[in-house]
Amino acid sequence: MTQEMTNALRYIGKADYSGPSEAPILTPEMPSHKSYSSTPASLILGLETSCDDTSASVVKNGSEILSNIVSSQIDIHAKFGGIVPEIASRKHVELINPVIQEALDVAGIGFSDLDAVAVTNRPGLLGALLTGVSAAKSISAAMEIPIIGVHHLEGHIYANFLINPDWQFPFICLVVSGGHTDLVVVRGHGDYEILGRTRDDAAGEAFDKSARVLGLPYPGGPVIDRLAASGNPKAVHFPRARLDDTLDFSFSGIKTAMIRFFEHKPADMSVEDVAASFQAAVVDMLVNTSLAAVERTGIRRLALAGGVAANSGLQARMREQAEINHIELNYPPPRLCTDNAAMIASAGYYHLINSRMDDLALDTIASQPLR
Ligand code: ADP
Ligand code: MG
Repeated sequence: MTQEMTNALRYIGKADYSGPSEAPILTPEMPSHKSYSSTPASLILGLETSCDDTSASVVKNGSEILSNIVSSQIDIHAKFGGIVPEIASRKHVELINPVIQEALDVAGIGFSDLDAVAVTNRPGLLGALLTGVSAAKSISAAMEIPIIGVHHLEGHIYANFLINPDWQFPFICLVVSGGHTDLVVVRGHGDYEILGRTRDDAAGEAFDKSARVLGLPYPGGPVIDRLAASGNPKAVHFPRARLDDTLDFSFSGIKTAMIRFFEHKPADMSVEDVAASFQAAVVDMLVNTSLAAVERTGIRRLALAGGVAANSGLQARMREQAEINHIELNYPPPRLCTDNAAMIASAGYYHLINSRMDDLALDTIASQPLR
């Protein structure tokens, strides 16, 4: 393993990573047969390569995380101000085998202990998805274990079961990430109904683009979150889009407002105040529409998912409103909100126990709404 790869590897919650010195590969000495039993007790390898994180995780019985390795490419893409798909694909190819090996090592198991492999196969960057899906197919074929394709957003939703396996159906989930802003009713495992979604930019995209206007590094969400903590949220009034009679969102207006504001920014206005004001407006839109979804459906159980769900302002406002409105609230810790493979393994587990498996013909799909 190169130093660059070692540096890029980051085991969640484990600061002093020291990885194996050789990049492991799928070798012919691997046991060639494992009989699959339908007993639900299972060890699932999850793989996630849909965007710019190469991640592998071993999860037991859908919620017990034995390992969750995330190798972020953020440093590489940051200098371009966003994800460069071709670079992402090449990095996934370099990192996927060492990341898988590290996930197995940390979990203290070998390939032959796995009961199934779950992989994000949709939606995402095609070249990036292909790396994870090819690795999953190799493992499935070599070990004779089921392969399960997981929708990326479904994975985000299932991060809620990682922290709370007793979380009950039905619930409403606000899925907010760099590419998506969806309000979903989840009635049972794999049973989704979209109540509303963004008509233009995703919430994460609004954070990232506004951060860029402010001269802040990519990805902008965590940076704005940090700055907002010491800013005045009432310093600037940014517009809150309300799309009457729908549960849809729109973030293009606030992005344009940020560009206009910055052109005439008062010299004494601090970046903390702008960040806090911007975040307050985005949080208002997300919280108000989620509360409207609760009222409309009568479902008083709300979950948060996706990278933007890590936002401390969003979590605080949701906690406050959940208490006032008697809503049960569930959300994962930040490291399980952003892209990771444990959430994919968890979703895969519930497919497995409901006998929803795929085969080696599993395809990659660039764009597909959750349904
Ligand atoms: P993807 O969009 O590729 O699925 P994630 O689900 O990890 O990836 O979401 C990444 C998005 O989440 C980025 O737009 C990033 O700015 C945003 N994000 C991450 N942490 C925070 C935070 N604390 N506050 C606001 N946005 C955040
Ligand atoms: Mg994501």
